[in-house]
Amino acid sequence: MQPEITRKIKWVELESPYETWFVPQDDYNPAFWGEPGGTIKEAGIVEGYGARLSAPGYMDCTEWGVFDTPEAAREHLIEMYCECCGDEPCELCQILNVEGG
Ligand SMILES: [Zn+2]
Repeated sequence: MQPEITRKIKWVELESPYETWFVPQDDYNPAFWGEPGGTIKEAGIVEGYGARLSAPGYMDCTEWGVFDTPEAAREHLIEMYCECCGDEPCELCQILNVEGG
């Protein structure tokens, strides 16, 4: 899985009774996301830097988180997915070029 951080773009915030998530506005297709019965609704448009992990060539990826700054996006990925142990930086931290300590 590799970190992916977007530039500042617009996101559609979607809401179901159980969770909230984000879709890049450019990829947003109401016909796809808007479920008959209306359990998913559009909660608004936000602007920010998206961050997630994805495996190139696979459909496998985490949900987008959206943040005000690229630094916050980076910190979020590290907080969620860092696997550092001992002195060796994990793969994620190597890619994000995080300094040890
Ligand atoms: Zn790490």
